[in-house]
Amino acid sequence: MKPLIFLCVLSIAKTGGSIDTRDSQSDEKQKEFINNGVVNTFAGLPVAGTVKTEPKLETLLEISDTNRYITLAFLNVSWFDGIEKYKEDEHERSKYGMGRVMDVEGRLVYVTDSENETDHSACNSSLRDSFGRSLSLYHNMPWIALIKRGGCDFEKKILHVYSYRAVGAIIFNNNSGSELNYMKITNKELLEGNITSVFTPMYKGNQLVEIIKNHGEHNPVKLSIKQGMRFDKKSSLNHRSSVLFVTISFIIVMVISMLWLIVYYYQRFRYLQTKENEQKMDTNKAKEALRKIPTKTIKTLSKEIESDCCAVCIEAYRLNDVLRCLPCKHEFHRNCIDPWLLQNYTCPLCKCRVLKQYGFVVSRSNESGPSTNA
Ligand SMILES: [Zn+2]
Ligand SMILES: [Zn+2]
Repeated sequence: MKPLIFLCVLSIAKTGGSIDTRDSQSDEKQKEFINNGVVNTFAGLPVAGTVKTEPKLETLLEISDTNRYITLAFLNVSWFDGIEKYKEDEHERSKYGMGRVMDVEGRLVYVTDSENETDHSACNSSLRDSFGRSLSLYHNMPWIALIKRGGCDFEKKILHVYSYRAVGAIIFNNNSGSELNYMKITNKELLEGNITSVFTPMYKGNQLVEIIKNHGEHNPVKLSIKQGMRFDKKSSLNHRSSVLFVTISFIIVMVISMLWLIVYYYQRFRYLQTKENEQKMDTNKAKEALRKIPTKTIKTLSKEIESDCCAVCIEAYRLNDVLRCLPCKHEFHRNCIDPWLLQNYTCPLCKCRVLKQYGFVVSRSNESGPSTNA
């Protein structure tokens, strides 16, 4: 029974938070890539890049209530390897940070420190691409920065690539853990600016790095960030508290049932113990009464004996046999009738209540008691 209960609790606890699925992956695969960026302006700042979709209502909600929603992202990549190749996420693997949630696409660039070609953390403001070229190459096209986690905070990295007019920033984890942080961004320029940022696992980042390394020097590796599932943390919290309520109620009911069972079995044990004690006392009292019943030893096989044989063992009486003489005038071998009387209290022939006549009274709980051996 117990493992079953455990499974029940587990399955209740496992039902996930509420998920709002929107903007799931469209089937339309973008073969035509937009190479000419459109210069937009935001808050008086010229910002390069093509934003594929306008920011949605939820995006604004996300800015004003940053802690409520978590949005996941698809990363789809295409490159040229003699033929056009395309690789898309089947499921969302990445997570938008604070700031704008929107679909963007652009040339993927693995940013590198100008002074250290092995540093891809974008913690230094002076950056190049992974082939040592100036980032000004990409000023006239939408481009997305690929950045490795570590060295400084998320915001600093994103600010640096934003200053080079990136439309998106993908930061990949520097450890293989599956947990993805919710990237904290407080800078107003980033929160409202024309850049979106996502955090992705290490393996995903390494895949992208490989593609750029092998195919990205002369042909553009193109990447699109697409909005996926959206979690409402608040309702997920409500859901969690209702799961907690159900679990606690269940545990309370279980505890009450267990207590009831314990009380029931304790009482039953007490009852049986009392009954056993009374039976012992009855046996002792019966033995006492038995001792008062007269006996006689057969000296001569004469008429002083009621019958020729004992009705219990059906053996004929012989000289020196000891008989028990019951008040109903029935006689038996003492060794034959005594065990019977201790069990049944009555004469086996006439049912006379022999022991009662010698002051023996049966306990209340044994009244219906021991007379089944007849
Ligand atoms: Zn006998
Ligand atoms: Zn009798």
